Amino acid sequence: MIKNAQIHFNDAGTPVANSFDDVYFSNDDGLAESHYVFYTQNHIDERLQNHGKDRFVIAETGFGTGLNFLNAWHQFNQRSKDASVNQLHFVSFEKYPIHIDDLVKALQAWPTLAPLAKKLCQQYPMALEGCHRLEFDSGSVTLDLWFGDIHDNLPQISFEQNGIIDAWFLDGFAPSKNPDMWQQSLFNAMANMSRDNATFATFTAAGFVRRGLQEAGFECKKVKGFGRKREMVVGKLKHANQQSNTPQYYSVQPRQLNNIAVIGGGITSSCLLYHLSKRNLNATLFCQDDDLAKGASHNRQGAVYPNLQADNTPPSEFYAHSFLYAKRLYQHLASSGYEFAHDWCGVLLQSVTKAKQTQHQNLVDKAAWPHALVYPVDSEQASAIANTQLPYGGLFIPEAGWLNPAEATKAVFEAAHALTPIETHFNTDIIRLEKVTQGWILHTEEQTFGPFSDVFVCGGEHSDRFEQTQHVPLHGVRGQVSHIEAGQASKALTTVLCHKGYFTPAMDELHCMGATFDKNTKSRAIKDEDNVTNRAQLENFYQGTDLVNSLGDIVSEKAAVRCCFNDHLPMLGQVQHNEEFCSAFANLRKGKHYGFDEAAQPYQGIHIVTGFGARGLCSAPLATEHLVAGLLGEARPFSERVHQAIHPARLLVRDLIRKKI
Ligand code: SAM
Repeated sequence: MIKNAQIHFNDAGTPVANSFDDVYFSNDDGLAESHYVFYTQNHIDERLQNHGKDRFVIAETGFGTGLNFLNAWHQFNQRSKDASVNQLHFVSFEKYPIHIDDLVKALQAWPTLAPLAKKLCQQYPMALEGCHRLEFDSGSVTLDLWFGDIHDNLPQISFEQNGIIDAWFLDGFAPSKNPDMWQQSLFNAMANMSRDNATFATFTAAGFVRRGLQEAGFECKKVKGFGRKREMVVGKLKHANQQSNTPQYYSVQPRQLNNIAVIGGGITSSCLLYHLSKRNLNATLFCQDDDLAKGASHNRQGAVYPNLQADNTPPSEFYAHSFLYAKRLYQHLASSGYEFAHDWCGVLLQSVTKAKQTQHQNLVDKAAWPHALVYPVDSEQASAIANTQLPYGGLFIPEAGWLNPAEATKAVFEAAHALTPIETHFNTDIIRLEKVTQGWILHTEEQTFGPFSDVFVCGGEHSDRFEQTQHVPLHGVRGQVSHIEAGQASKALTTVLCHKGYFTPAMDELHCMGATFDKNTKSRAIKDEDNVTNRAQLENFYQGTDLVNSLGDIVSEKAAVRCCFNDHLPMLGQVQHNEEFCSAFANLRKGKHYGFDEAAQPYQGIHIVTGFGARGLCSAPLATEHLVAGLLGEARPFSERVHQAIHPARLLVRDLIRKKI
């Protein structure tokens, strides 16, 4: 687990890191220094004019107080109207994130940056290692905050050939005070991640830094330093290294994404459309129902919380970061006037069985998660949080809560539509995808649409209905949620309870409780016995409590099918052609390090986006952002290990390695 920075403010009011005994920025004029050293010496203004790409990507070593980021954002906002760049992407690393209170204080020094500093502080994340993707100004500014040691995080940044970074702000405390950071491995990674003509600028003139960057491939020169400083170093990498840290069998084939069809009307489709619209990319939506969110996204109240294991495993990393991103998105929509019922009232994971107790204790003992994300509570503390007497302690996730899935799905869609209009076709059941020279034609019984260059199949449990996707090994798990009348005591409940199922605070006099688990069925039929099961399970765990005693009757219910994969993670990316894939990567049967057919393209422009189980509200927002970013050759928000864990080829790769196929 990472720690917040311990800092104090010196006589000049400049923040100083206690453990490095160094200032975050110059005592004289930190903003002017930041502007001169990093922004001007990377020639960003000129490059925004004629970059030839819509997005300019800056990476920085050492986020600190965010001054460099705020200045870059401020300058980006002043760019001239005919600038070729419309999106700023800032990737920064921070081993010791400054505590939010210190950040607010430190940034008070810059009145010109105050409006942007306020927006940054509103979204500034908790000290959880990994990548926090923050978005500002309708998505035109993206900040990836990689918390943790830069040497641990650099190898986890997923990228393909041709690089992802245009300019480096090589900051960090002075090499003499922070020798661990200034290593050859850092300079090499910078070169490997750089695009053609990427530049760097650094305040230090230390000879070993310049030589190390030269060795990594940068052409370096000394230039005049800021103020009284004699020299600093800048440089350029003429040609990208053609490096990729993603194995070929998990690679992402870049796509233009300019003529897109999205099939499905749930939270996944809405999120996908939102990320496309943010980037001014048009899409057409096809939905078999007469409205959005009629499938698995249609419960009255869905709990939104991360599924955390004791260790920071790839699935835990996936859920933790997905959750924090999803919450930022929903909060942004709510504050922008989009209406959907929700309450960030926390979620209590109750230790209702011995097994749950052991699982929860294990998570506490491993101490992998910040207190702000999850912390243990005894039954007394749990009762105080829930505002009703509970017989169990457990874990509390204070940032979590519930929302109305259908309303949230519509809110995300409306926000996407407001950014870039989306053509919609409801009551349109696509039954066949046909490949033609110009792309893909979509067929219903009576109509055809297209051609489209790319088709995204977000059809939940129906995603395997097409010839091209029928081999995707998804399975349906039917679940029924019951709506039960609130009573005097149960109305007092102020948080979501998770026992084996879940129980929500009342909305309009009704609680949601459930859900049942029926494996290997895609039926949405309502069953009376499932209501009995849901009630019995709650009464069994909370026997004799005021909460249970006060409940009335079950008055309605909803059944849906969760779409799952055996490894409990969703699947996002281009669907491979199984036979071609196995022949291209046949050598995986011998091990991962034998050659593969480099020209192999076992993909065709059909993307699968499914398998979110009951967790789409939490995980679809960031997973779909990762998908779109990867296809466009941008920096992706998930680490490489998570990228591989959600890649559509993962089960095939596993079977090849195990020689099962
Ligand atoms: N760019 C910052 C700003 O605009 O406020 C100032 C950066 S400050 C001089 C250096 C930062 O690098 C500190 O916040 C420090 O915690 C961070 N740092 C030092 N070593 C690091 C490492 N190995 N990995 C990631 N961050 C590191």
